[in-house]
Amino acid sequence: PFEVLVVGGGPAGASAAIYTARKGFSTGIAAERMGGQVQDTMGIENFISVPYTEGPKLAAALDAHIQEYAIDTMPLLRAEKLIPAKELGGYSEVVFSNGASLKARSVILTTGARWRNLGVPGEEQYKTKGVAYCPHCDGPLFKGKRVAVIGGGNSGVEAAIDLANIVGHVTLIEFDAKLRADQVLVDKLRSFRNVDIFTSAQTTEVTGDGEKVNGLKYKDRDSGEERHVELEGVFVQIGLVPNTEWLKDSGLALSPRGEIEIDVKGATNLPGVFAAGDATTVPYKQIIIAMGEGSKAALSAFDYLIRNEAP
Ligand code: FAD
Repeated sequence: PFEVLVVGGGPAGASAAIYTARKGFSTGIAAERMGGQVQDTMGIENFISVPYTEGPKLAAALDAHIQEYAIDTMPLLRAEKLIPAKELGGYSEVVFSNGASLKARSVILTTGARWRNLGVPGEEQYKTKGVAYCPHCDGPLFKGKRVAVIGGGNSGVEAAIDLANIVGHVTLIEFDAKLRADQVLVDKLRSFRNVDIFTSAQTTEVTGDGEKVNGLKYKDRDSGEERHVELEGVFVQIGLVPNTEWLKDSGLALSPRGEIEIDVKGATNLPGVFAAGDATTVPYKQIIIAMGEGSKAALSAFDYLIRNEAP
């Protein structure tokens, strides 16, 4: 058994594991895919103090930093169940899909999230070649260009407002008959002169020239007509889904959107169980935030362990 078991090997998990290892606690890190979402990222320009890096390079750097410590790294393990400790200071257990199970006095959950995909032709082919999911990350790459934002909820309308300040033109596409964002955001969006809003519009294809995105097809759901918009970028904003399905029956408190509820110290409702990063209710999902949150959860685990002896 470990003193600390980190589940998830993205920026939040790496940071948490390094912090508890530096406190001298026996630490294990188990993850389906080390590096997490960072592995799927091309250019990263907002990891402060590193003006430019690339996902696989940052993932390798996370791994190298973990290897500096006596951290037991267990890749390719998919957690399926959390069994919380029966008493304060006791052992919680995590069961994996291969039947293995690990025990630790403190568990730090950092299983991240995934962007919901449109599932239309061209989306997969042009990922990172014009199809993007994170306006904070990739918005500046489209300076002066034409982009679409798919999704008229709060995140879509916020993204469109953000992008309207940076890019040349924004087309917002919403499937429903009206936008679902807060009125104050909708009013703000309508005040831009470089924004078109199409409602009752179903995105049917992302088009490209084989190398990069050159447009988008959508169906007008009222007339049934198919239209094509020429543009260079498509931001998909139809939801970020936390990887927390496996925690549903554990007694861990999740928000209505499935995010792990944490307090300002990264503590969950279960004693000894902490969480960090995109899987949690922390606002703004970013690498630098996930790392900060991971270190915070780790320091809270440390605090818990020194106050609660094993029974
Ligand atoms: P993740 O990176 O999602 O890591 C989750 C970890 O948990 C992974 O190791 C995963 O395999 C593991 N896991 C999940 N479920 C289980 C399970 N059941 N059992 C075991 N392990 C599990 N942010 C920026 O700051 N700048 C950018 O430029 C940027 N660009 C991005 C581009 C793309 C295409 C994407 C998808 C995201 C981008 N982000 C960017 C967001 C950033 O990647 C995330 O905010 C960050 O990776 C979150 O870190 P995390 O550790 O919380 O979770």
